Amino acid sequence: MKVYNTLSGQKEEFLPQGDEVKVYVCGVTPYADCHIGHAMSYIIFDVIRRYLQFRGYKVKYVQNITDIDDKIIDRANQLGISTGELAGKFTTRYFEDMDALNISRADIYPKATEEIPKIIEVVQDLVDKGYAYPVGGSVYFRVRNVSDYGKLSHRSLESTMSMENALGSDDKESPMDFVLWKAAKPGEPLWASPWGPGRPGWHIECSVMSLKYLGNTLDIHGGGQDLVFPHHENEIAQSESFTGIKPFVKYWLHNGLVQLGEEKMSKSLGNLITIKEALGRYSPDAIRIFVLSSHYRSPLTYSEEALESAEKGLDRLRQVVHSEGKGEKGEGEIDTEAYHQRFIDGMDDDFNTPQAIAALFDLARDINRLSDEGYSVTQGQQVLLELADVLGLTLKPLVKPSLDAEPFINLQKSTIAKIRRAKLEKVIEEVERLLHEQGTDAQEATPYINLLREVRNALRKEKHFQLADEIRAKMGELGIILGDTPSDTIVKRKR
Ligand SMILES: [Zn+2]
Repeated sequence: MKVYNTLSGQKEEFLPQGDEVKVYVCGVTPYADCHIGHAMSYIIFDVIRRYLQFRGYKVKYVQNITDIDDKIIDRANQLGISTGELAGKFTTRYFEDMDALNISRADIYPKATEEIPKIIEVVQDLVDKGYAYPVGGSVYFRVRNVSDYGKLSHRSLESTMSMENALGSDDKESPMDFVLWKAAKPGEPLWASPWGPGRPGWHIECSVMSLKYLGNTLDIHGGGQDLVFPHHENEIAQSESFTGIKPFVKYWLHNGLVQLGEEKMSKSLGNLITIKEALGRYSPDAIRIFVLSSHYRSPLTYSEEALESAEKGLDRLRQVVHSEGKGEKGEGEIDTEAYHQRFIDGMDDDFNTPQAIAALFDLARDINRLSDEGYSVTQGQQVLLELADVLGLTLKPLVKPSLDAEPFINLQKSTIAKIRRAKLEKVIEEVERLLHEQGTDAQEATPYINLLREVRNALRKEKHFQLADEIRAKMGELGIILGDTPSDTIVKRKR
């Protein structure tokens, strides 16, 4: 298995330190909703983790939450709420997005504000060793003392130093030096430290959290290409100076960035598409396929057309997985081993997901053909589902919630109970989402609840009590009580 290492600038054989691969990925600063750029990065590292597990590795995956930061402070001040309240709210919304996109949870999500003692300990040690110095209540890292500074971003120390004259100087010894501890300004959250009240700098947080939870050397450190310099360069300088051990990270993996048209998608340009907006229009699987259809190191251009075509492609996979061929000719012969191998060959080559996806579509075409010819295709379907799962694709049937009861009621005559159930689940999911986002009184949920009531009445009339009871149980979990009278169902909401 080969991975492209930003540090060496080439593909290298992947040889982790032990059976358990230690992975650290830079996490969010929760001050606003996550956008498609976040979705891209977290989907990619989720797939890398899933693939390592598929290949038999254990993975320990740590992702930080930067819950104190200039942006959080500014936004909280604008809204007149505490930084804790703001960060808490957007951390919850971040997890909603990740769960919706079927991104596995990290093993540990350390928060900067909960790691202050360890951060102070590491900063003090860097001061003691001469790698850092306090000035006016802040502490800066002395970049000149690290001879191989710039090795990740491939900048020479001289070229970095030539910036010095251009930039001028404040209280730092050199403009290249970066902050480890920021002296508190009036009205900002602060923690006591040997250098006075303040808060940690962003770069040191990642060094400390990765060190604490994964040890002195990580196997994989991931993030977007925009983090290479200065964030990751600085992480290396801090971590290697503190531990005295090189390398801090064996394999540095960086994903390309999302563009909207010709421009980078970014908050400052005001051209963001949030994950929640995208999920309102496309299925989670379609967003994943869209991201994985390009190589992870390439830039990804967001467009409605690309997502619509991802959704169409997915429909084909979904149909193939859920079709029940007549199978009168017995089990069809598909060389599933060959598809398995193609998938692995692609993914082993620096996670070439476009190639892996192409193997899935070819397998689907084979299954379809055999099914049309009258063969049973369960074996092929199983392999398709298994490989899709490595990419985090659920291939669940896509049913847009409709406010028309007719198609649901008509489905009762169909023999395919599972399709009916899937459609109802989609409606229930919608109710759940609305209640979660807007509270138990959400008026927008009413038409969906009424629809469920109507369908349930029809089911009971037909004596389909099992499915009718399932609807009631699920609604009960959401705090919606469906009470039955002989002729109708009454809806009550718990408060
Ligand atoms: Zn980081």
